[in-house]
Amino acid sequence: MSAAISYERVRDQLERLKLEAALASLDTVLEQGQKQERLPVEVLDELLGRELSVRFERRVKTNLKLSGIPAPKTLEGFDFEAQPSVPKDVIDELATLRFLHQGENVVFLGPSGVGKSHLAVALAMTAIERGHRAYFLSLHELVTRSRTAREKNRLNVLLRTIMRADLFLLDEVGYLPLESEDATFLFEAVSRRYEAQKPIILTSNKSYGQWDEIFPDAVLATALLDRLLHHATTINIRGESYRLRNRRGAGLTPPTPA
Ligand code: ADP
Ligand code: MG
Repeated sequence: MSAAISYERVRDQLERLKLEAALASLDTVLEQGQKQERLPVEVLDELLGRELSVRFERRVKTNLKLSGIPAPKTLEGFDFEAQPSVPKDVIDELATLRFLHQGENVVFLGPSGVGKSHLAVALAMTAIERGHRAYFLSLHELVTRSRTAREKNRLNVLLRTIMRADLFLLDEVGYLPLESEDATFLFEAVSRRYEAQKPIILTSNKSYGQWDEIFPDAVLATALLDRLLHHATTINIRGESYRLRNRRGAGLTPPTPA
């Protein structure tokens, strides 16, 4: 068979196998291979590697879209000097994603504006960039969705969505007290993830001692905290809001009296 016929067949086969990226880079890879006198196996390696890396990038993009992350944040974009109560070594360790593989939770506690959501989202984006699926909900969204789902008898669909994610982010626990049914659903979600050893990143403006105030009953609060904290890293962020601090730097907000 002539080279020209083989070439046509390869193109056709790549197309039928839906190896689009390999097809698109076929000419380049073949040319390079010839110029650099590569072995056939090296040429194949290059071609398939290109296909896989394009697919991986596409998956990352899709996973980012599906994650529900409202605004992207990065760990590089976090100013650790401005927030000395955040232990950089602990964040670096979390960024290895060992916690995710071991099914350990991460909880960021602290007042408003100190970077809890920023760090939570940045860790989730690190996970997404490495091919994992993350799912972000504020507690308020979780409540709204679970109410709609309950009305339509589709709570199990919502639970399945929460369970499917490799990493579940629950943001802003504590801003609003929970009604009994909502608290029960939250407990169900946390319990199931705990049993499946699937990690949660949670942020809250309330210290654990104040969680009784969020839950309609203290027994439920304790049971939920038990599961959440069995394997967990807690990062307590103190200090003042990053935004206010910046505004003060610009002279827009008067300094707080000491
Ligand atoms: P929280 O969730 O604790 O209320 P956020 O994470 O939403 O606070 O932070 C508020 C805003 O300030 C966000 O835009 C976030 O990116 C930014 N921010 C907070 N802390 C830092 C920091 N140390 N370095 C860079 N940006 C920060
Ligand atoms: Mg927040």
